[in-house]
Amino acid sequence: MNDVLPDDAILWEHFEDTARAWLRVYGYRAIRTPILERTELFVRSIGAMTDIVEKEMYTFVDELNGESLTLRPEATASCVRAAIEHNLLYAGPQRLCYWGPMFRHERPQKGRYRQFHQVGVEALGYAGPDIDAEHIVMSARLWRSLRLDGIALELNTLGGSEARARYRARLVKYLERHHDALDADSKRRLHTNPLRVLDSKHPAMQDLIEGAPRLADDLDEDALKHFEDLQAKLRAAGIAFTLNPRLVRGLDYYNGTVFEWVTDRLGAQGTVCAGGRYDGLIAQIGGKPAPACGFAMGVERLLALMQHGAAWLSQTTLDVYLVHQGDAADRFAEQVAERLRDGGLRVLLHCGGGSFKSQMRKADASGARFAVIVGDDEVLAGEISIKPLRELAEQVRASIDEAVDLIKKGERR
Ligand code: ATP
Ligand code: MG
Repeated sequence: MNDVLPDDAILWEHFEDTARAWLRVYGYRAIRTPILERTELFVRSIGAMTDIVEKEMYTFVDELNGESLTLRPEATASCVRAAIEHNLLYAGPQRLCYWGPMFRHERPQKGRYRQFHQVGVEALGYAGPDIDAEHIVMSARLWRSLRLDGIALELNTLGGSEARARYRARLVKYLERHHDALDADSKRRLHTNPLRVLDSKHPAMQDLIEGAPRLADDLDEDALKHFEDLQAKLRAAGIAFTLNPRLVRGLDYYNGTVFEWVTDRLGAQGTVCAGGRYDGLIAQIGGKPAPACGFAMGVERLLALMQHGAAWLSQTTLDVYLVHQGDAADRFAEQVAERLRDGGLRVLLHCGGGSFKSQMRKADASGARFAVIVGDDEVLAGEISIKPLRELAEQVRASIDEAVDLIKKGERR
């Protein structure tokens, strides 16, 4: 679990601002749910036999009432729970979005943390494939807004539950025939969650996975049509993709479309965004049946990608460093600072005294564009002195209002 220090927070805030503006232009509305939920919610939605529920959740018993609670490992289940609880779908389908920390007890590595952050969207009550396409098109727009490239789209469909059941039976038969070649995890999953065997990163398993039966052969007509319509929409939008028949998701609730955005610039943790359809989930956790889909992106992984190209992000957030000396000047400076802030400027008022010279050094180091200087002369005249710090120009005297205009005129970096 990481601290984000001020130098890095600049990048986080830039990401958050960009993401919020992006969600607004697609008409997604924020939902904020608690970070703690009843454990049962995740067991029923994500699935008891998944990695997340089996070994990654931070679960504890509330000693006051014996209830089992869990720090949310993802937010889809919470969004769906809240939508059911507050009857949101009564008013029609909902485009929702969320932002925040998630918790998974994983082995920490670059790009894999125990507290990490996701931005995600959920479209509840939409059958698609128009909405599936919207999700993919909108994620592509975010990569452009963040000036990220080298992120590729992988696409698959898991079909409906009957097709999956047929496929599961075929797959289990195949894996049983090759039982000796399975690694320990896959042996364990063979009868609990066999589709996840396809997701194994174990090098020795790759040939076996390559030779496994394909789900595409079990798909019914509706699922195939949905998937083909989606692909046509993506082609029309100019979005390149690769079909990956091995793409399965680590959560049980998915069906139909699944997709991942992946990069090869982050080593093993290359998936920056993942999502798909979960038409059965709303009914599964007690709501009136309704189709849905969504996706979530890993903020830390996107920030790691941005770090490479983020030199253009200015460290400078200050317009003015306010330098002052003398009792009367100190009092005047406090008023000046407030008046400049009223004018919309970002002002750091020097605190802690010291000579003009040392204060000017601090002004320079602060990155502020201007030093505003208040001494006895200025107090008498009711004016302030303005010294540009980032360009060669004369120091000038002005009234406070004139100063606001003058400082605003220079383009902010
Ligand atoms: P992975 O295969 O990398 O474990 P996942 O399938 O468990 O991913 P999802 O539950 O689909 O991941 O979460 C969506 C996204 O959230 C992932 O694609 C990834 O970018 C990010 N993410 C998931 N787990 C972590 C983590 N422990 N640390 C940082 N980011 C994460
Ligand atoms: Mg995982």
